[in-house]
Amino acid sequence: MLVVKLGGAAGIEPGALVKDLADCLKGAAAGPAGRTAREVVLVHGGSAAADELALALGQPPRHYMSPSGVKSRYTDRAALEVLLMACAGRLNKLLVEALQKEGVNAVGLSGLDGRLITGLRKKAVKAVVDGRTVVLRDDYSGRLEAVNAPLLRLLLSAGCTPVISSLALSEAGEALNLDADRVAAGVACALGAEALVFLSNVPGLLRDPADARSLISRIPAGKLASFQGVAQGRMKKKLLAAAEAVAGGVERVIIADARRARPLTLALAGEGTVIAA
Ligand code: ADP
Repeated sequence: MLVVKLGGAAGIEPGALVKDLADCLKGAAAGPAGRTAREVVLVHGGSAAADELALALGQPPRHYMSPSGVKSRYTDRAALEVLLMACAGRLNKLLVEALQKEGVNAVGLSGLDGRLITGLRKKAVKAVVDGRTVVLRDDYSGRLEAVNAPLLRLLLSAGCTPVISSLALSEAGEALNLDADRVAAGVACALGAEALVFLSNVPGLLRDPADARSLISRIPAGKLASFQGVAQGRMKKKLLAAAEAVAGGVERVIIADARRARPLTLALAGEGTVIAA
């Protein structure tokens, strides 16, 4: 069982992953008798798609800096609904459509559906917005609380491939925006996945983010914390998610490039940053 997180960063076209995923599933199904088809859960975010839609709707996306300097999306109710439209809606369904076209019985879900993902809402967020420090009380983002693993197992046992957009349900039954990398890590832990693959618009963790040839190809799981300093911006969250996955029992986490043919096969063959015990 594999969990794959497809990034939404610039330059990522889902087509290559969709084709590769379909081939992997068919290959496993046609394998030696008794061998079960390899099961895959696909998780995606979609902040770029949400930004694009927000602009088209005349509601430019807003961001805030935490006092510690981490940039996040300011998700008020209007922004949350744009995320629902862009991620749980169009992006999720385009992935399902593309997978179905390749013969994969994909089922697109958001974390809200069937209480698939529950989250804890950040009730008061201290933030620097437009240069002023304020407390945001209308932000609908949160962190992962629980994954409904039985529901995912039910879908997998029916031969379906779940495609999950990283929205969640709060304690109060409201939709929440969650970080897709950390949702993927949570899903991988909850399902006891053998590997978690992050496919992004970089070859992996780079020693110098501006130099694609500076790939760090292996990181012993125990040494992950010491590599946090190498990551900047959103890559920090990916490493945090990788650490959560490793702590939750996932044996192998791979950060690899989505922008090439057979991105999943190559990632599993070790072409990227492999974090393992
Ligand atoms: P995705 O949408 O695929 O999850 P993110 O935007 O969250 O991608 O994270 C990938 C980005 O992290 C890269 O595009 C790159 O700009 C940035 N980054 C920062 N530091 C590093 C690093 N050390 N190695 C690789 N990428 C890095």
